[in-house]
Amino acid sequence: MTKLDRTRPIIAGNWKMNGLFVDLHQVDAIEALAAEHAHICVALAPPFTLIREAGARAHALAIGAQDAHLAQAGAHTGCVSPAMIADAGASFAILGHSERRSDQREGDALIRAKAEAVRAAGLQIVLCMGETAEDRDAGRADAVVAGQLTGSLPDGALDDVVVAYEPVWAIGTGRTADEAQIAAMHAHIRSVLAQRGGIKVPILYGGSVKPDNAGAILALPEVGGALVGGASLKMESFRGIVEAAG
Ligand code: PEP
Repeated sequence: MTKLDRTRPIIAGNWKMNGLFVDLHQVDAIEALAAEHAHICVALAPPFTLIREAGARAHALAIGAQDAHLAQAGAHTGCVSPAMIADAGASFAILGHSERRSDQREGDALIRAKAEAVRAAGLQIVLCMGETAEDRDAGRADAVVAGQLTGSLPDGALDDVVVAYEPVWAIGTGRTADEAQIAAMHAHIRSVLAQRGGIKVPILYGGSVKPDNAGAILALPEVGGALVGGASLKMESFRGIVEAAG
């Protein structure tokens, strides 16, 4: 089971609710890509249903889940626990993704409880946060993101966490935050993390990252990698992003 290596740039694919058994050849291709680019930490969060098969194919590649419940077991029909995810062979869980914050109405207190449970199961956390277009237009993007970070990051978790800044208005929209916006927000997140001693926590950018914008984004200060949704579904575009990482 390969973990997220926080000393290397991290390029993590999030397949969201995509991927069937017949698509596992894509995992083989991403595993080969990861092996070819050993200086990059390549990661993939397939749907729960593919974690075990993906994990069995992954050696250079880190496999994770896209969510986890806050309990390890119990009467929670339809949910998947951190212990189950670890048992299936994942090394990390994405938590706080904006699609879960909006579709499942997840708030910071719940995300924090999930993060504690995920750590307790021995998994790493990719902790997502980002402002809406309304937040940005109202001039409260910094405050919203700082609130999400402090509200959802458990005490003592700094060694197990990777932060992903994903402006909601840039996810799956084809719109990307411009370089100045990304650099400013990453510096802001770093300063909030630094107040808690989190100088080594990588901060990924996510939101319509593509091969043609990845190089410029990944070269920005405090950008430790990318969380990639749509472009991780096609080998050609995911390869382009990994190659842009160096
Ligand atoms: C994501 O879902 O985390 C994401 C960044 O999606 P996309 O790359 O499609 O904007």
